[in-house]
This record gives sequence, C-alpha cells and structure tokens, in this order.
Amino acid sequence: MADQGTYTIATLGSHSALQILKGAHDEGFGTLAIANRDTKALYRSFGFVDEVIAIERYQDFPALMPQLEKRKLIIVPHGSFVAYLSLDEHKRMTIPYFGNKAVLDWEASRELQRQWLSRAGLTLPRQFERSGEIDRPVIVKLYGAQGGKGYMFIRDSADFEARAAHLKEEHIIQEYIVGVPLYIHYFYSPLENRLEIMSMDRRYETNVDSLGRIPAAAQEGMDVQPSYVVVGNSPVSLRESMLAEAYRMGEAVVRVSKEICGPKGLFGAFCIETIITPDMQFFVMEISARIVAGTNLFIDGSPYSYLHYSEPMSTGRRIARELKNAISSNKLGMVLDDG
Ligand code: ATP
Repeated sequence: MADQGTYTIATLGSHSALQILKGAHDEGFGTLAIANRDTKALYRSFGFVDEVIAIERYQDFPALMPQLEKRKLIIVPHGSFVAYLSLDEHKRMTIPYFGNKAVLDWEASRELQRQWLSRAGLTLPRQFERSGEIDRPVIVKLYGAQGGKGYMFIRDSADFEARAAHLKEEHIIQEYIVGVPLYIHYFYSPLENRLEIMSMDRRYETNVDSLGRIPAAAQEGMDVQPSYVVVGNSPVSLRESMLAEAYRMGEAVVRVSKEICGPKGLFGAFCIETIITPDMQFFVMEISARIVAGTNLFIDGSPYSYLHYSEPMSTGRRIARELKNAISSNKLGMVLDDG
C-alpha cells in the first residue's frame, strides 16, 4: 500500500466535505466524515466515504478530539468547520491540520484582513467610519453575516440616517462598487513554490441579480431594496487578458502572508472575492484562507485545472495531491499545522 493509504483525511460533514473526501479517496487516502444525526445517512450513501462518525451537534466536535488524536488522521478544514468551532478551539486542536492556523487571526478580523490586502497592493473599496463621511453609495455589512444576509444598499448619508443609523449589530460601511462579482479560487503549493488558479465562480444573489429584470422606471415607487442573499454559484471563465492580474493578486497575497503569519504564510486553497468595474479594475472585498463552497462547481475539474493537470482536479483533490506529495517526499511538516 502506498504511504498515503495509511493516512485518513477527515472533515466535518458540510460545505465542501464531499469534494474534499472524493479528492482524498481518488488520491489513495482513507476518508472519514464527521456527520450529525441529520447528515450521517447522506455521507454514508457515498462509496468514497470509508467511515462516518456521527455526533449530536457539530459544535460538539472538540469532545471527539481525544479519540481522533490517537489515529493517523489529517483534518482538512472548510468554511463551515471554521464557523462551527471557535478560533481558540481551532488553535487548540492538535490533530494534524492542513493549513497554517496563524492565518486565522489575520482572516477573522476585518481590520487585520484590510491591512494584509492593502499591504499586498490590492485595491479595496473605501471604508467610512461615520455617516457624515458618506459621499457616495455604500453597502452596510453586518459582522458575522454569512452569505450576504442582512446587507443593505445605502444611497447617501441621508438614506443612512433613515435606515441604518439605528443598527445595533456591529457593521462596516463600505463604498458600493458597481461591477461584476468574481470569486477567484487559488491553490498555493509550498512544496512546488507555485501558485495555481484553480477555478472561478460568481454568486447568484437574490434579489440584486434579478432587479435588472424590471425596468428602472417600473421600479419607481415599488420600494424594492436590493438584497445580497446567496442562492447559488455559477462558473465563470475570465477574459484571458485579465488573468495575469488575477494571478498577480494571488501571488501578492501569498507573499505578504509570509511576512505577517510566519514563514509558512498562507498555503493550500484560498479565494479572493472581487468586484470588477467597467475599467477592468479588481476591487477586493475579502479573502477566504481555505477551500470555498464555490469550488463545488468543479468537482470534475475546471477549464483552468484541466490546463494544469489534464485530468479531473478539484480543489479538494488538489489538497489531497499536495498531502500525497508531501508524504512521499517526507515533507509533511511543510503543509501541516499540529497545534
Ligand atoms: P461569505 O462570507 O459567504 O463570503 P459574506 O457575508 O462575507 O459572504 P460578502 O462576500 O462580503 O458577504 O458580500 C456578499 C455580497 O454583497 C457580494 O457577493 C456582493 O454582491 C455584495 N457586496 C459586498 N461588498 C460589496 C461592495 N463593496 N460593493 C458592492 N457589492 C458588494
């Protein structure tokens, strides 16, 4: 049996777990889904999932750790994994973990994230501290909102006073960028010291993506406000003339991460969320430092991953490939954080 066959890749049953475990299986690893009462039957139904452990609630995962620590496991985290566990629980986890946990602090704080992205030379939407400063349309974003829930489009400072000034929840006020939202999925391999563009998607949001179906004149008086709740993702291929800039942005983010989060920096899968304006400027809204759900569109690979691999290569499988290469070259320490 190849070396990777003695390891099991484990993740929490949600988000992109199917992609991660399918990729792990295709690369020769054992696979474990940690599911709950509602999801265990689903994960058991897939042949590539070797084992399912069901817990009551995903938040109970830390109680399972002593049992998991005894095994030859590697955890691959995803967005829901991070959401269900606190930052501290994450850091306390001593099961080998694909990724650099030092990145979590820089990602979790909107302020630190802004510093990171600005230092990488990326263009960010302006941020306003108080309503008096608002001199253009803005979007008010609630902290911790997921999938755009509760975001508000605000025309000007008077509109802010009328509709948002009373908000109790923590929020930020950000310049509204009119353009196409594009989410770029990258993979940085520390073993090969190479950045790859894996795929891209745009989100489909209700109702902002459907307002154009009603002429502006007909909307007058209807009192419809745009909302940004995500209902799906669609694949995109970017104009090739814009790819070099997308690549440069990814490189810059990785380079700066090595200055701020220790020498390992950011590695593995990550996503830069952008909005592209008519003059082809990428405005960066956010970075996610791990596999994002938009990659689920590409379980069978994307046009970009095909260019690299000539075989189906999802981001989940790319993670497993990196782990496999690390095992065979005795460099697992380069891609794991073990607490
Ligand atoms: P997730 O954590 O799932 O990525 P989120 O809650 O962090 O989502 P964002 O990605 O920040 O949400 O934004 C959700 C949507 O809001 C975007 O897809 C975009 O349509 C809109 N949006 C966010 N920021 C801006 C902006 N500055 N200008 C215009 N639209 C924006």
